[in-house]
Amino acid sequence: MDASIASPTMKEVTQKAWNKRPLIISGPCSAETEEQVIATATGLAATGKVDVLRAGIWKPRTRPGSFEGIGTKGLPWMQAAKRITGLPVAVEVATAKQVEDALHFDVDILWLGARTTVNPFSVQEIADALRGVDVPVLIKNPINPDLELWIGAVERVAKAGIKQIGLIHRGFSSYGNTEYRNAPMWHLAIEMKRRYPELMIINDPSHICGRRDILQEVAQKAIDLDFDGLIIESHVDPDHAWSDAKQQVTPERLGEMLGNIRWRKEDVASEEYHAALEKLRQQINQLDDELLQIIGQRIKVAEKIGQYKKDNNITILQTNRWNEILERAFAKGDKLGLSKEFITKYFDAVHMESINHQNKIMNS
Ligand code: PEP
Ligand code: MN
Repeated sequence: MDASIASPTMKEVTQKAWNKRPLIISGPCSAETEEQVIATATGLAATGKVDVLRAGIWKPRTRPGSFEGIGTKGLPWMQAAKRITGLPVAVEVATAKQVEDALHFDVDILWLGARTTVNPFSVQEIADALRGVDVPVLIKNPINPDLELWIGAVERVAKAGIKQIGLIHRGFSSYGNTEYRNAPMWHLAIEMKRRYPELMIINDPSHICGRRDILQEVAQKAIDLDFDGLIIESHVDPDHAWSDAKQQVTPERLGEMLGNIRWRKEDVASEEYHAALEKLRQQINQLDDELLQIIGQRIKVAEKIGQYKKDNNITILQTNRWNEILERAFAKGDKLGLSKEFITKYFDAVHMESINHQNKIMNS
């Protein structure tokens, strides 16, 4: 071999993957056996669409008794999979010892799980273990919809000197049976993007969906919302996976899914397109201004009603009237193609604002 054409180091391969858009990470929820890890990794590499191999080595399970991860002995399997496929590997860490073990076995990218981000003590312990280490770190959103906790974890890891930090949006848990295993609450991910435009954010449709049949549509939505990539669980034999069996797909199916996604560009150069878009955006601004004007007028009328209620000493909230307003709005909204869900949220907000204004008047 010509020594002058040195093959890239694993650090360089990892850097290239980290900077690639869309960044695609895939692999089993859990490493189970060496054969399973290698077969999955080989299948993923064969798709030509995956940049990083993931696997859980230590699994933070909600209840004891289920499979809690193969532990440190799985790390050499990841090394072997990396040797065979050339893919950098990513593993979840939840303690200082796990950070140490993962780095000892050359894990290329670390991630903090949702059950870790939620706990500042754990995050700080990991951050301390990362001091002086040069490794990219991905941080999943906390299990509860609390942006401050997510931000706090980013800050702790950044303060430890980690330069490459990315976010994973994996949804938020809620009580009871819902369509999703973890509600996506897209607005929270969008708010993180707005606050930290320099941080990469990828989407984890597997843990949002909890099932295979809606993975594709959630992945598509993330791409439509300009996410930087996806992390999706895959397994050579998903039905027999030791954890998260319902949401995993074979490497072949993953390849198909990625092939079906309509990848979007954030921006295009064409002047014509920009001019057309600018015109439409001006219309939106104009309409937003008018909406606010009208809402302002509505509040003024509500204040007059407040004064009247005060003079006659009657309560602010009158349930019958409120139901009548909503019913009218549902009917009208339906004709305009506005969902009942939107009408409810919108009127709740407007109504609450009216009540607050009336409250001030009643008690002035
Ligand atoms: C996982 O990625 O397998 C995992 C445990 O995810 P989360 O932390 O999002 O629950
Ligand atoms: Mn999982």
